[in-house]
Amino acid sequence: MGEQQLQKQLRQLIIPQDIYASLVSHAQSELPNESCGYLAGIAGEVSEFYPMTNVDSSPEHFSFDPKEQFKVVKAARNKGLELLSVYHSHPETPARLSEEDIRLFNDPNPVYIIVSLKDIQPEVKGFKVIKPNDNEVEIETVTLKI
Ligand SMILES: [Zn+2]
Repeated sequence: MGEQQLQKQLRQLIIPQDIYASLVSHAQSELPNESCGYLAGIAGEVSEFYPMTNVDSSPEHFSFDPKEQFKVVKAARNKGLELLSVYHSHPETPARLSEEDIRLFNDPNPVYIIVSLKDIQPEVKGFKVIKPNDNEVEIETVTLKI
């Protein structure tokens, strides 16, 4: 599949209601720190929720535990699923990629989801980060269909 097609295909991510609810409740349960994890599925349709440990235990950063990450990647692969999304929460800031997020996110494939708990009503948004070269960054908004 060409790069163009792949990008088009992932402009939309379908998330079942229960997984959406789990995303938000994971973010709430980790307060004041950021939550993080993976969503896996097939062809842009999420079917598995993999909450992970934020080893940074920080309200402003997250890092996966490499061992846990390895296990989740393997579990998803064993089910024949793709890792469609990397999610993390923003306890105090909007559902936008931070400067640091943009700097650290190098993979053009996953949808980077941010769960913002800044306001009473949680806000969840998806993005793709495409870096055609070292000096350019393209941020695309991905529609989340709940
Ligand atoms: Zn962030």
